[in-house]
Amino acid sequence: MSWHVLGAGSLGCLWAARLARTGTPVQLILRNPARLAAYQRAGGLTLVEQNQARHYVVPGQLADDASPIQRLLLACKAYDAESAIASIAPRLAPGAELILLQNGLGSQEAVAAQLPQARCLFASSTEGAFRDGAAPEGEWRVVFAGHGHTWLGDPHHETLPSWLGDLERGGIPHQWSPDILSRLWRKLALNCAINPLTVLYDCRNGGLREHATEVATLCIELGQLLQSCGQPGAAVDLHADVQQVIQATAANYSSMHQDVAQGRRTEIAYLLGYACATALRQRLILPHLVALHQRLQHYLDARGLPSH
Ligand code: NAP
Repeated sequence: MSWHVLGAGSLGCLWAARLARTGTPVQLILRNPARLAAYQRAGGLTLVEQNQARHYVVPGQLADDASPIQRLLLACKAYDAESAIASIAPRLAPGAELILLQNGLGSQEAVAAQLPQARCLFASSTEGAFRDGAAPEGEWRVVFAGHGHTWLGDPHHETLPSWLGDLERGGIPHQWSPDILSRLWRKLALNCAINPLTVLYDCRNGGLREHATEVATLCIELGQLLQSCGQPGAAVDLHADVQQVIQATAANYSSMHQDVAQGRRTEIAYLLGYACATALRQRLILPHLVALHQRLQHYLDARGLPSH
């Protein structure tokens, strides 16, 4: 049975290459005819792993292809998820299964609500990859920059999907997580405590050691948010974990900092925006988190980047 990967970007290509290299049938769904033609001219995708580039001839297609979709990896950004899914929804076979790879929260629920007939699995990944746009193969040369792990789970059913063996064979490190929402909330809280401040102070993660009180205050409010939305487990030792991440990744620029520095849209609406909207719904007053959100929105507005 074939996999379909919707979104031929960094993570989409990383997954497609690893599935394809063990003979698992996989198809990439490209955005439009121009992108498909460019992909076909490149002759497939290239994955660079430990400085070794390998080419994979993964077939490409468009969203309106006639073949049914049984297994889909949704590998676009959170803000593209709903429209991307709408474009392939008529092709989903009965009992289709989807893995939603998006960062943050909000897009997964929106996609699942669009597809009551499909099984939507949520994923949280610590793997890192980027597109090496300067290479002759163009955007389909992807560098596997950070080895990590992907947790997969279904908030509504505990039954393991039948295809975990495909990931095993492809060497995609993964683990079934019965409490995937807790993982996604924890990651969102870590992101909210670190990424926006690195943008506002234009610094590497380690630069936040100079703003320790502000980070600590945010962690208190994020902990209150996690408690109030039924995720107390995700609140345990949050501040210590945030400090540890700042220390361990001191030399790195956060993903949000990189997006802003390169003039790319951020996923703010699914991270800090989602946190603040949830607090509002819970009638929880979190003044520092709300002020941070407003500062970040002004910062993005001033640079002509979407802030919602
Ligand atoms: P990316 O490199 O920007 O790739 C997204 C891809 O989706 C692009 O190729 C884009 O096409 C495509 N796309 C968007 N809408 C589409 C549509 N309607 N039809 C077909 N293709 C469509 O993004 P990414 O870095 O892989 O990130 C994907 C998600 O994973 C994000 O939520 C991100 O936060 C999360 N994540 C990424 C990493 C990482 O290291 N990259 C790590 C952990 C989590 P165009 O090129 O035509 O725009």
